[in-house]
Amino acid sequence: MIDELLNGNQRFIATEFNHHLDYYQGIARGQSPTVLWIGCSDSRVSEDVVTGSKPGTIFVHRNIANIVAYNDVNIAAILEYALVHLKIRDVVVCGHTRCGGIAAIEDGVQENYIADWLLIASGAKEKVDALARERHLTREQKLNLLIEENVRLQIKHLEQFALIKNLLRKGEAPAIHGWVYSVETGKIKTIVEGKRTM
Ligand SMILES: [Zn+2]
Repeated sequence: MIDELLNGNQRFIATEFNHHLDYYQGIARGQSPTVLWIGCSDSRVSEDVVTGSKPGTIFVHRNIANIVAYNDVNIAAILEYALVHLKIRDVVVCGHTRCGGIAAIEDGVQENYIADWLLIASGAKEKVDALARERHLTREQKLNLLIEENVRLQIKHLEQFALIKNLLRKGEAPAIHGWVYSVETGKIKTIVEGKRTM
């Protein structure tokens, strides 16, 4: 499998890199991505591929279940670099169908660290539990709703960062978009329309 990756790199150089040499030499001198992508680590949701984007377009943070954790220095540093230094004005929080992390939030997990991590999204489950009872949702309908509700919750978390609030005061807040990618159809559905003001 590792050999396939290295062979794939040779094909990338031959069919993509060398064909667009000016572009790749340009981004080699410095990146100026236009979007910050906060997505799930799931191997089926490669942001460049599913959005038809070239390298150099999207600055990326991915973790299990596309969570925005308040006390995570990693995401805080990424936000600061993306928004203050790279001056990115669009942030996408992208969930996806058949997300194992979301199923684990619904079903509960025994693992130590995964369970702790997923607790950050537990507010979404409480809301969806109530709706599922009211509307008599199937498990699949409930999971799809939880995927969307988790995106909304993580956007709320983002909006609470002092960094974002301070940018908002200066009129420089990014638009935060909420999307769900379907691993069954390849389509992206907009859940939250991004706005420059909150
Ligand atoms: Zn996932």
